[in-house]
Amino acid sequence: MDPNIFRKLSYGLFIISSTMDGKLNGQVANTAFQITAEPAMVAIGINKNNLTHQYITNSGVFTISILPQTVPLDLIGHFGFKSGRDIDKYATVPYKLGETGAPYLLENSIGYLEAQVISSMDAETHTVFLGKVINAEVFSEEEPMTYAYYQLLKRGGAKPAEPAPQPVSEPKSEAKAVDPSTQKYQCPVCGYIYDPAVGDSDSGIAPGTAFADIPDDWVCPICGVSKDQFEPLA
Ligand code: FE
Repeated sequence: MDPNIFRKLSYGLFIISSTMDGKLNGQVANTAFQITAEPAMVAIGINKNNLTHQYITNSGVFTISILPQTVPLDLIGHFGFKSGRDIDKYATVPYKLGETGAPYLLENSIGYLEAQVISSMDAETHTVFLGKVINAEVFSEEEPMTYAYYQLLKRGGAKPAEPAPQPVSEPKSEAKAVDPSTQKYQCPVCGYIYDPAVGDSDSGIAPGTAFADIPDDWVCPICGVSKDQFEPLA
């Protein structure tokens, strides 16, 4: 089996949210898809270890907020690399409650669906929840983020709302000394790579800024890890 084939399946990127006892939580997910049109049903796959899984299992409701290609990476870090067991993720983002009480994003979302769970299937590490859609709204006609494009962004290979460049292979010369002005650094938590040629415009770091010249209070734009945690990329 060639595992690379799974990279050929196309996915979007979503914040899937739910509620339990009045508490709210959401997480990043790339698996959300329409199953039927009439009645409208969607399915999602959620890791059993996640707090959102507990909330959905308990309340039987969830929302899917669809992220645009222009979504700030730190929003993905906020919902994707932090646990609702440690922080109240919805405390700092604009949201609204659906009629089920599950929240959905009002900013950095091109629309949402709200669903009630009608069935679920065990998938070992995950549960597949099938939901009947009871509400849905389109907020904007922006391009939805795809999982592949997100992976490209994370590697510093593209900026939002710009065409994705072709990947360029970089032949390595053993004799070549590392130039600090072009040395890339990688986040040990989420894998984000800081590339001096690209910079980090979301944090005001201009292209051409060497890693050493980034302010010390800069953090990983995806997961919030501090600058001193970053490791030089071989
Ligand atoms: Fe990170």
